Amino acid sequence: MTITQFAQDIYILDDQRVREFLILGRDHAVLIDTGFSDTPILDEVRKITALPVQVILTHGDGDHIGNLSQFKECCFHQADEAKINPTIPFHSLKEGDIIDIGDYHFKIIEIPGHTYGSIALLELQHHWLIVGDTVQKDGPIYMFGEHRNLDQYIESLKKLANMKEQIRTILPSHHDCPISPDYIDYCLEDAKRLKDGQLESSPHPKMPCREYRGVHVHFYY
Ligand SMILES: [Zn+2]
Repeated sequence: MTITQFAQDIYILDDQRVREFLILGRDHAVLIDTGFSDTPILDEVRKITALPVQVILTHGDGDHIGNLSQFKECCFHQADEAKINPTIPFHSLKEGDIIDIGDYHFKIIEIPGHTYGSIALLELQHHWLIVGDTVQKDGPIYMFGEHRNLDQYIESLKKLANMKEQIRTILPSHHDCPISPDYIDYCLEDAKRLKDGQLESSPHPKMPCREYRGVHVHFYY
C-alpha cells in the first residue's frame, strides 16, 4: 500500500489496484471506500490517524467495500444497499448532502449507472471531484452484469459535463490520479459509441463480458 498526501489533511491510499481517500477533520476522519477484502484498511488508516473514522462509499462494488465490518458505521446511497448488505449501521446519502470535514466541504452528487447507487463527492472550494469508477483514464470501466445501466451512466456523465465549471481535478478510484475534467467528455463520447454499437470488441478471456475499445477508454460490457 502506498500512502501519499494529496493536500493538507487529505491522503490517498493506493495498492495499485484501487485507491481510497482519507480526510482528517478536527474530531473525526472520513475514509472514502475501504478497498478489497484482502486489504487491512483499518491498519493502514491507523498509520495516519487515531481519530474515529466515518466511512463513505462511492458505490457498492467489491473492490470498494472490503472489511467494512471493522468500522462502526458507514454512509452510502441507498440504491446500492443490495450490493453492500451492510453488517454495520448505515446512513443513506442523497444528492446535495454536504459532508463537512475540517476545512473541507464535500457535496454529494448522484451519478447512477456504473451502479445504481454510485455517488461522487465534489469539494466546493478546491473543485476536486472524487468520482469512484465512473470517470477514468483508459479503464476498463465495468458495465456488465447486474446493478449496471448504460443509459443512466450516459445521463450521469452528461450531468457531470454540465458541472465542469465547478470541477478542476478528478480523483478516480482506478488508474491515473489525478486526471483532468476533460475525461468526463472522453468517457461520455465513448459510452455513447458503446451504446450505438460503434466500438470494436472481443470476448473477455475470463469474465462473462466483452471488452469494448473506445477512443479514450475501454469498457467491460
Ligand atoms: Zn472499482
